Amino acid sequence: MTATVIDGKAFAARVRAQVQTHVGRLKAERGLVPGLAVVLVGEDPASQVYVRNKGTQTLEVGMASFEHKLNAGTAEADLLALIARLNADPAVHGILVQLPLPGHLNSELIINSIDPAKDVDGFHISNVGLLGTGQKSMVPCTPLGCLMMLRDYHGSLSGMNAVVVGRSNIVGKPMAQLLLGDSCTVTIAHSRTRDLAAVCRGADILVAAVGRAEMITGEFVRPGATVVDVGINRVERDGRMKLVGDVHYASAAAVAGAITPVPGGVGPMTIACLLANTLTACCRANGLPEPEGLTV
Ligand code: NDP
Repeated sequence: MTATVIDGKAFAARVRAQVQTHVGRLKAERGLVPGLAVVLVGEDPASQVYVRNKGTQTLEVGMASFEHKLNAGTAEADLLALIARLNADPAVHGILVQLPLPGHLNSELIINSIDPAKDVDGFHISNVGLLGTGQKSMVPCTPLGCLMMLRDYHGSLSGMNAVVVGRSNIVGKPMAQLLLGDSCTVTIAHSRTRDLAAVCRGADILVAAVGRAEMITGEFVRPGATVVDVGINRVERDGRMKLVGDVHYASAAAVAGAITPVPGGVGPMTIACLLANTLTACCRANGLPEPEGLTV
């Protein structure tokens, strides 16, 4: 079997086009411009690239972008004061604090100081609770992007067996909640799971969010299953740096029914969903109907 490739890059372009159309309508009909504020503390090179991409794509869809770059030694009180200003600013509908933060800053405290209605990353404890209880929330971007691709490919996910490898707060756990919300039978696997390959082979939908390059090989995949590779790992191959996922693409694609590639799968969907969440936050803040198909 050769798997169908789920093209996240093309899907993300469609989501951005949808966002752009809606933003254009908000501007024309209401004079509203959705605004996203991104806060970066320190000079982590990967974070700088993410923040630059987010800023560029925010402007491309017609939204306002506010970038706040703070030095690595920024005091916690100063960061909290900035977030308080952004919470109060009516031009800002979404706030994202780029993680990881330098070690002297308490990430939980910082994230929980964001107004939950502006928490477009969906990491605030209120949004986590709302998602866990099946209520309207801001949904974390990476799992939201994965769910959109799965719904697009399968239609209904009801009754499917889903295995999520990884239990982090930003990917694994919210991914499992979303799949449960779509009536999958969900297993969450992690580093203590016994016979991981056998557990994974029970999956109709296998989501890999492990942070280990190419760990999930074809042996972990049930023939015909759909494999979603969340991983982003930089590895050296033949003397060059290369991006690979948590899935060993060649062996998994030989067994799977469908698979997301790295790059070009989940990654582009993450930023597209950030823009979608900012638009949703803007609509909610102004008592307007939410755009269809861009949130759960
Ligand atoms: P974390 O390191 O926070 O979590 C990794 C999870 O994988 C943990 O729950 C851990 O288990 C589990 N794990 C680690 N080793 C094994 C193993 N050998 N067997 C089974 N489970 C294991 O990572 P994140 O969730 O933040 O990210 C996961 C991946 O997704 C990374 O590659 C990251 O770069 C990528 N990512 C991609 C994004 C995108 O936009 N595409 C966005 C965010 C992340 P335990 O809890 O027991 O330690």
